[in-house]
Amino acid sequence: MNEVRVRFAPSPTGYLHVGGLRTALYNFLFARKNNGKFILRIEDTDRNRYVEGAVENLIASLKWCGLEYDEGPDKEGGFGPYMQSQRLDLYKKYADELIKKGHAYYCFCTPERLQVLKEEQAAQKLHQAKYDKHCLSLSKAEIDEKLAGGTAHVVRLNVIPNQKIVFNDIIRNRVEFDSSNVDDQVLIKGDGYPTYHMANVVDDHLMQISHVIRGEEWLSSTPKHVLLYDFFGWEKPIFAHLPLLLNPDRSKLSKRQGDVAVEDYRAKGFLKEALVNFVALLGWNAGDDKEFYYMNELIESFSLERVNNSGAVFDLEKLNWINAEHLRKKSNEELLTLLKFEIENSSPHLAQGEVGELRIENYSDSYLLQVIEAMKERVSFVKEYLTKSPYFFTAPTEYEEASRLKNWKPETPEQLKALRNKFSELNNPSKEDYEVALKQTVADLNIGVGKIIHPLRLAVSGQSTGPGMYDLLFILGKEEVIKRIDRATETIK
Ligand code: GLU
Repeated sequence: MNEVRVRFAPSPTGYLHVGGLRTALYNFLFARKNNGKFILRIEDTDRNRYVEGAVENLIASLKWCGLEYDEGPDKEGGFGPYMQSQRLDLYKKYADELIKKGHAYYCFCTPERLQVLKEEQAAQKLHQAKYDKHCLSLSKAEIDEKLAGGTAHVVRLNVIPNQKIVFNDIIRNRVEFDSSNVDDQVLIKGDGYPTYHMANVVDDHLMQISHVIRGEEWLSSTPKHVLLYDFFGWEKPIFAHLPLLLNPDRSKLSKRQGDVAVEDYRAKGFLKEALVNFVALLGWNAGDDKEFYYMNELIESFSLERVNNSGAVFDLEKLNWINAEHLRKKSNEELLTLLKFEIENSSPHLAQGEVGELRIENYSDSYLLQVIEAMKERVSFVKEYLTKSPYFFTAPTEYEEASRLKNWKPETPEQLKALRNKFSELNNPSKEDYEVALKQTVADLNIGVGKIIHPLRLAVSGQSTGPGMYDLLFILGKEEVIKRIDRATETIK
């Protein structure tokens, strides 16, 4: 096989769709697995859809996910430029070549005529509206005159009807279309820009793309592309059309049912490793039931032959699960870096009042490492260190109502004071010292441990659940524990 060269060819619409991420990822995995090249090409020929900053966003999202490309707009590789808007002369040159060969022709029809044609065809209930090749019959003299006079025009593909268009697809095997169903597609628009079909085929050829791996929504465009390759006399790439992404109700994945932008998932605190792992499984598996993958394992296991051809359901529950798994596999040092980043950037993420504004300098690494150890098994997102255990970052000012009603009795403040006094006698206490002191206190008071341990947790954390009681006390430290008990006994009624 010649060198594998694959491309991700997004139209910059403003953000990277998770479907786009899946396409980019499969291209990336395929390239890395086969020691090939992964290319980013920006298909920005639709000037009506231009969005400021879209390309930068897209590149940032790809890089965040770890999908480094070998060639692209900011990485020249000998086949550039990699932005289609900078390649207009090329498309013009190749369109001229097709016109010369009779495979394309100028069309001067006005929008009004095309509209009438469309309405007539709709009235006849034709399956698919098609251009009627009206301008194909213009003489050379007529064409030259119109061009010289500056008449608005497009260039169209000259499709011969009643022919079979056949191509192989790695995922769908043999695919066949009838050319009678293929419109005389516009190749060069009125504004001189190429259409997607023209630019895509010319670039895939010039950039020596070996495999075209893209979403199923492009399958119906492929017969037009096949015709173009044949008309130019170019070798076709190998095609692989990836299954659609579906909502849980099996409708096409849409914004209406949830987030679709990679940056949304990033902002929600998903780990990039988890998002990549999850997206890899949308339509592919290695033939076993393995679901946890790191990128290097994906590269190792990936093959296009194992991509399914039926739609892949986007299951948020599974993404949550994968995120928790990836988080759990991280070392405490890795978690420390993530938690510090979260603290520094926490304010916008957290619901107001949850922990207030945090200052990283208030927490030493060794303190945060203890928090991590205590909470590790209880969190699925890094930000949950802050939202599930805010008490490690600020003293509680509110106390969970259900626990208060159930556990805070008229005699509780006195009992907690006795405990507090015991604690205050301790010198640099260990977890065990707290435990001994608590047990002594309940013995002295002649009450069950439960009588004091629930109010104690409420007083120091404001909550009724959390890590082990003695871990909690030890991490917070004696001074802080005493302060919190005092505050609770004064404020809880
Ligand atoms: N520009 C197309 C897109 O936005 C590319 C499709 C293809 O890969 O051919 O997805």
